[in-house]
This record gives sequence, structure tokens and C-alpha cells, in this order.
Amino acid sequence: PSALPTADRALNVLQRVWGYPAFRGVQGEIIEQVVEGGNALVLMPTGGGKSLCYQLPSLLRQGVGVVVSPLIALMKDQVDTLRQNGVRAAYLNSTLTAPEARAVEDALQRGELDLLYVAPERLLLPRTLDLLGSAPVALFAIDEAHCVSQWGHDFRPEYQQLGVLPQRFPHIPRVALTATADDRTRADMKSVLHLHDAPEFISSFDRPNIQYRVMLKSSPKTQLVEFIREEHGAGSAGGDAGIVYCLSRKSVEDTAKWLQAQGIAAVAYHAGLSPRERSHAQERFLNEEGLIVVATVAFGMGIDKPNVRFVAHLDLPKSMEGYYQETGRAGRDGLPSTAWMVYGLSDVVNVRRMLAQSDAPEDVKRVESAKLDALLTYCETAACRRQTLLSYFGETLREPCGNCDTCLTPPQARDMTREAQMALSAVVRTGNRFGAAHITDVLLGKETERIVALGHHQLPTFGVGTAHDDRTWRSVLRQLVSLGYLAADDHYGLNATPKSRALLKGETRLQLREDALIAQTSTRKKEK
Ligand code: ADP
Ligand code: ZN
Repeated sequence: PSALPTADRALNVLQRVWGYPAFRGVQGEIIEQVVEGGNALVLMPTGGGKSLCYQLPSLLRQGVGVVVSPLIALMKDQVDTLRQNGVRAAYLNSTLTAPEARAVEDALQRGELDLLYVAPERLLLPRTLDLLGSAPVALFAIDEAHCVSQWGHDFRPEYQQLGVLPQRFPHIPRVALTATADDRTRADMKSVLHLHDAPEFISSFDRPNIQYRVMLKSSPKTQLVEFIREEHGAGSAGGDAGIVYCLSRKSVEDTAKWLQAQGIAAVAYHAGLSPRERSHAQERFLNEEGLIVVATVAFGMGIDKPNVRFVAHLDLPKSMEGYYQETGRAGRDGLPSTAWMVYGLSDVVNVRRMLAQSDAPEDVKRVESAKLDALLTYCETAACRRQTLLSYFGETLREPCGNCDTCLTPPQARDMTREAQMALSAVVRTGNRFGAAHITDVLLGKETERIVALGHHQLPTFGVGTAHDDRTWRSVLRQLVSLGYLAADDHYGLNATPKSRALLKGETRLQLREDALIAQTSTRKKEK
């Protein structure tokens, strides 16, 4: 069969081993490149089909394909699946006993493996490197390759040492794969893994079947139940499978209990559970119809359930990358799905504060803060969400998508410069230290005990904002924080940033969404 062109041999294997009729998108090109001994850099969104890009070439080339992955917990599943297809696969990581690891090493030495999954720290052991030096290696696949970069959200120091691979194995092809990489991360991947000359294979990040929606947080659990009941038919048999992300373990527990109390099948998942409880939850999610997992971000990496109909965020993710990756777990089967998120002022304040308090180096913090800004801009945008999201990943969508909340129900944007000035001056005149509730009271002219005690009822800004209700003022304040005109301290106290000066002086004007609240309910899908 080796007389056939590579593309034909690859297609044969695809059909014979995997039972798929054809390659998806750029898969075929990547596979050809690697089978013929070239390096490659692969950027493909989650669910795009990255695994085949190294699994299949490992079968076509002589020797074992070595897959470096940080996701130890998933190796067993991947290997089991491959074995079911008749592929001779194994893994080496810290979960194996010494005799088990020895058995794998023996199989490797006897040339009885097509694919070997290995954790980076294991690969880098002199013993493992020596072993691979004595066995023919088909290729190295570096999965989750963005982990090499400090700028990414998933930095793993061991990954930076993978630069030894091209030195020790100069003639073995290397393929680096990731679902998330901005320009900077991509540059890091190239330099650490010595892939400057490797062709880049990039597939679109657009997930047209996912409807993106962001709404203002009022009472999150009630909003969530309403969303699930009205759009994902839960409550009886036939509800949809979904994932609900929360920031803390406690809110995961609370939310799962709340859903259960509402008669909605839900299970909690977070890193505080025992490994047994976690894998039980994961198994239930994979096997049961219509189960909802309430989880921290610990859940989901590598979970391959095609019919997840919605991903809901009750708390703000840390970055656009995180948001994209988490929402990307919805609708892998290509059917209509929803990415639903609620967020509010306290989220913005919380995440900003977590960032400010982290002990990461200053330059890393600056990058993280810029990433957060991008996410907040996405939340507050009056433009198409998909356009905003894709442009962050360097992709241009020419027309608004027609399948996000802002497209379906365009929000009113209004010149709110005057209101912004009122809010900023209330913050400044009260001494740059009170929270949104107090500032709102001042603007609305409420003579609360606290206001009177502080003498704030005598300020010129007292009562200047009665043309709006308190929800509007909260929204204005939130947008001012999101956009960086106000900053929040440890106690949610707001202070005006230097950026606010131009606005106060009237040198810049400000368009704000009148309010996210009005529009949201009407974007729901019509009854099927
Ligand atoms: P990624 O690693 O990019 O998240 P996977 O490699 O896990 O994606 O693939 C996602 C899903 O798509 C898997 O269920 C896989 O079996 C399926 N898949 C991949 N390539 C093809 C193909 N050419 N034809 C049909 N299904 C495919
Ligand atoms: Zn849109």
C-alpha cells in the first residue's frame, strides 16, 4: 500500500480504523504534512478534531507516536477508546504503579506501541528520554501547546523544557496543537518548541450553532431556572444536558442543590470532591440523558459529550479564552445550543480584585488585566457578540451573525455622558471610597441615615439623578467599572481613575447600553 500517495493511505486508515468517511476541514492537510515528516502548528477550536491530526500519522509512520499532554486524568479514556479501535496505545504517568509503568516501557522497547501518551514531567525524565532514544519514534505531538506560554491562562513550567525535543530528536516531526492562542502565545509556542518554520494550520473559531447571550445578573439562580425551564425543557424526562459554571465550590454546591429542589436533575462537580465522586459525576453526565452538571472550571477539559445543549455561566470567566473554551463544550454535534451568562457589578469588582491581589509578576498581571478588559468589553458590547468574540481571536466576521442576543434584540445605545459625569462626580465628592449602593442613594437623593450622618445630603450631586431609577444607575456604575473609568478597592469602594478626567471635563463622550435588562427576555427561542 505504500505505493499509494499519502493522502490516499491516510483516507484508507481513517475509514478502516475510525470508520469516518472523510477528513474535516484542514485535518487532511495536516496529516499529510506530518506523515511526510514535516512539523506543524495546529490551531483548532475545541471539538474541531485535533486528536486525529497526530493519531493517524502515528499509524502511518514507523515507530511510536508520542503524545505529550498535561491532562493526566484523560489519558486512560483516550487510550481505552483507541484500543477499542484496535490501535496499540498506552500511557505513562504518575497514576500507574511501578510494575504497570514497567510493562508499558517494555512494550515500547519491543516496538509494540502505535501511540504513547505521556505527561510532560514523565517525558522529561532522563530515563524516558533514553528509552525513546532507543525506540523508533514516529512523531511528537504536543497537545495543549499553549501551556508553554506564561501569557496563556494555563502556564505549565514543564512545558517550557520541551525545547529539548528538537535537540535530542532533530529528525522526528513535531506537531503542536492548541485550541487557544493569541498572537503572543503563538509566538511563544514557536520559540519554545522551535517551530519557526513550521506551517500553521488554523481553522475558524466560529461555532455558528451556538447562540451567545449575556444578561444582567439580578437573582442568578431564579434566572437560571427560568432559562432552563423555558428553553431546555427540564423538570421531567427529556430535559437537555447542560453545564453550569460557577466560580466557587460553595456556589457550585448551592446551585446544584437549588436545581435539584426545583426538580431539575443536577449534579455538582468541583476539585474539593473525592476522585471517586468526581469520576462518578463525570460518568453520569456522559451516560445519562438530560443531566445538568454544576461545576467549577475544573470540569470539562477533554469531556467529549456531543449533545450538551447549553453552557451557563453564573460567574464571569477569567478571560475570553476561558469563556470560549467553556462555552465551546456546547453543541459539538452541530445542533442549536446556547451559551448563556449572567454578570453584574460585583463580578467585575471580584475579578478585578482577584487580579490585583494575585502575586503574579507585574507584566503577567498587566496581560491578565487586558484579557479581562476584553471579556468585559464583550459583556457590555452593543455590537454583535460573535463578531466581538471572533475578532479577539484574530478572525473577521463580515456581517453581524443574527444568532446572538444583540443581533436578535439590538440594545439601545444612548449618549450617557451626562449621567456618567454625575456618577463620577458623586464618587469623587464622597471621597472615592463608597460602594455602588451608596453612590446610587446619593444620586437618587435618598436621605438614608448613613447619608445624613456623613453629610452627603448637602453635596451638590445629591439628588441630581432622579430622572433614572436605581437599576439604571447600577448599570451606569457597572459599565464605568467595566470600561475602566472607575476602579474598586478591596471593600467594593469605588474610586475614579485618571481615565475619568477627560470624561468629567467633557473632552470624551460616552455611549452606554441603555440597559441590558430591557431586551433580554425577548431573545428566547420560539417554541419548537
Ligand atoms: P479536539 O481535540 O479538537 O477538541 P477531538 O479530536 O476530540 O477534538 O474530536 C472531536 C470529535 O470529533 C470527536 O468525537 C471525534 O471523534 C470527532 N471527529 C474528529 N474528526 C472527525 C472526522 N474526520 N469525521 C467525523 N468525526 C470526527
Ligand atoms: Zn450576532
